[in-house]
Amino acid sequence: MAVSDAARAAGSTALSIEKTAEMHVAAGAAPGGASLVGLTRDQLKDSLAAIGVPERELKMRVAQLWHWIYFRGATDFSEMTNVGKELRAKLAAAYTLARPTVVSEQVSKDGTRKWLIRMPSTGPLDKGAEIECVYIPEVDRGTLCVSSQVGCTLTCSFCHTGTQRLVRNLTSAEIVAQLIVARDAIGDWPHATPPEGAFVPTDGGRFVSNIVFMGMGEPLYNIDNVIDAIGVMSDNEGLGLSRRRITVSTSGVVPQMERLGAEANTMLAISLHAVRDDLRDVLVPINRKYDIKQLLDACRAYPGLSNARRITFEYVMLKGVNDSDADARELVRLLKGIPAKINLIPFNPWPGSKYECSDWERIERFSEIVYRAGYASPVRTPRGRDILAACGQLKSETEKLRARARMMAEQGIGAEGVYALGDGE
Ligand code: SAH
Ligand code: SF4
Repeated sequence: MAVSDAARAAGSTALSIEKTAEMHVAAGAAPGGASLVGLTRDQLKDSLAAIGVPERELKMRVAQLWHWIYFRGATDFSEMTNVGKELRAKLAAAYTLARPTVVSEQVSKDGTRKWLIRMPSTGPLDKGAEIECVYIPEVDRGTLCVSSQVGCTLTCSFCHTGTQRLVRNLTSAEIVAQLIVARDAIGDWPHATPPEGAFVPTDGGRFVSNIVFMGMGEPLYNIDNVIDAIGVMSDNEGLGLSRRRITVSTSGVVPQMERLGAEANTMLAISLHAVRDDLRDVLVPINRKYDIKQLLDACRAYPGLSNARRITFEYVMLKGVNDSDADARELVRLLKGIPAKINLIPFNPWPGSKYECSDWERIERFSEIVYRAGYASPVRTPRGRDILAACGQLKSETEKLRARARMMAEQGIGAEGVYALGDGE
């Protein structure tokens, strides 16, 4: 890959440099250079070849950079003490180790953190995609919920993300960068420490131990980049996350499921939400293309499926819509023979949503029926509701910020103030 191609893959850093005041731009970043952060081994190799690193050295150099970027979390080429001075200078002249811009960080009362992240602009017409990424700490694990697309082309009727118009696929580097941003922010690198008072797991493991592709977007509509990103995130010489601790959630893109299992070898979650096609057609409209039977057949054929590697079925609890005893019994009947967990998700309302969350007693009763049939049926505790970080509440704040920018321009307030307001709302 030529430097310009690498720049396209990783995005130009011009925008993030401009926004230094509101975020941490990597120290020593060369203005205009493409960031190497998030690249796959092959992309890194191409980037090195493009600045004249000889073929015979490439493998060794990639291994060195890989260690610094993904194991140590380096933010400056000068840290790379086992790389010769001359090459370090060349690298710094052509590239950066910059992260995408963190526009705002919100911390929930329960310790959940939500970052609004702006990706570098990819060209004159692109202002830089904005996505949200959520960190959910527990005592024995830390789960990062990542986005795979800006917005979503699907329009599930209960999901906030589906109402967003702007949609594009994230590059694999942009997906990986979400993990890097999280590790930076919570001090999850060797020799780093978490911020004062931050809630992080206390079991001695990594602060980010699990990844769920449950943020914005449909991962299987961006499967090439999702598979590449998972490759980088799970590489043992770098970020080192276990593939069994990575879960990809899909609304049911049946033709891509087998490939995900075969190539990414991750855990699978299915957004089922209804047990009858007529209702699922409305709640999860992709059902009109791939119905419940096709979806469950694809689940039965998912590579690696076993009792130790069950599929998680997500089921959002919508009052009076899909939450009856009969629905629960039908759910159990449908899943017969599939090693499964059922995850009941209390519906998270968002401004303008037309559903209500089922009453607590109803959720308990539903859960009881599922449990009695032999399935684990945990009710997902809503996290970060106060900062709109819970499932389905994610939607980049671009539109909101634009409206505010207009308002503030009218009042003669500079645009910088707009982003400051993004915090803590
Ligand atoms: N597009 C993928 C992954 C992102 S959505 C998918 O649909 O699976 C992650 C999960 O949150 C899905 O199960 C989705 O159905 C659920 N979800 C969406 N909106 C929600 C809401 N308002 N309340 C609760 N869960 C919601
Ligand atoms: Fe897209 Fe998933 Fe939301 Fe449906 S639930 S609109 S597939 S993000």
